[in-house]
Amino acid sequence: MKAYKPKNRLSSQAYINGVLNGDRVILSRAITIIESNLESDKLLAKDIIQAILPASGNSIRIGITGVPGVGKSTFIEAFGKHLINQGHKVAILSIDPSSQRSKGSILGDKTRMEELSNLENAYIRPSASGETLGGVANKTAESMLLCEAAGYDVVLIETVGVGQSETAVHGMTDFFLLLMLAGAGDELQGIKKGIMEMADMVVINKADGDNIRKSEMARLQYQNALHIFPQSESGWSPVVTKASSTKNTGIDTVWDEVLKYKALVTQNGYFLKNRNYQKIRWMYDNINEELKHMFYGSKEILDELSILKKDIISSKISPVKAAQKIIEQFKGSF
Ligand code: GDP
Repeated sequence: MKAYKPKNRLSSQAYINGVLNGDRVILSRAITIIESNLESDKLLAKDIIQAILPASGNSIRIGITGVPGVGKSTFIEAFGKHLINQGHKVAILSIDPSSQRSKGSILGDKTRMEELSNLENAYIRPSASGETLGGVANKTAESMLLCEAAGYDVVLIETVGVGQSETAVHGMTDFFLLLMLAGAGDELQGIKKGIMEMADMVVINKADGDNIRKSEMARLQYQNALHIFPQSESGWSPVVTKASSTKNTGIDTVWDEVLKYKALVTQNGYFLKNRNYQKIRWMYDNINEELKHMFYGSKEILDELSILKKDIISSKISPVKAAQKIIEQFKGSF
């Protein structure tokens, strides 16, 4: 059977040229190719990524997380506008694992960042959908490369602070920003210690009105808490500040800290070391995904698995032996 190939696709060269020329419409269409699960699009996506690769990488990649309601989109709107006023081009991508499970996604349901989305130097792309977090993260990372090749020099990758997606975002960014609220315990905010540990900066948001004093107390508390963690390999000590995304205070400080971080890690070599590490990690993640796909996508394997499951339950074969047997069968299929 001939694979389905959509009619409205351009040549790979047209996507490549469009992206390199900073054409936002073509950029969006190229990202659609990246997000597509059609075999013909996957081939096209590989060609596009390979060609734009030399033009990618020239941005600071910032991961932003925090529980729903902490003010992520309001913060990004204020932060993005600040960056654009400074002459930057800002791309905003998101990873929303909830879009896999339910029809509605946590990040995507409301109209978000309305003002920012109208600015010429901002590019906002909602989360890709997909079956696995790995798959979604992979597509976001490739979209990030396209945005860089299109001239965006700041990439913000946003995620909801409730699960494993933070680790994925941390694994593809240079700087990790955690938004928090004053007065709500860590438990309440659903933030795990591991996520705190990844943060290069914690911003206590909504530090306005009656909340200013509480926010200052929270700032000191978190600053103390972060001191307990071992020094990160980057040589950077995480900072805690407060901000109001609605009143636009403390937003400039966030960018100043990002620049200080960038200067430090460029000078001490960690920036490049981390980027290189992330690229290798990305390859291994892809190998793992592809192997799983090949294995569990095979009808013979699935048939054999259902037999083995029965044999395990009736104690005919041990789980370890069963695993070994099916792997041998898989290897034999090449
Ligand atoms: P998200 O779910 O993390 O993206 O949060 P939103 O950006 O949608 O914000 C949730 C609510 O908090 C909205 O009603 C915002 O107007 C409000 N909000 C966000 N930032 C601030 C802030 O700095 N101060 C105050 N007072 N409210 C804020």
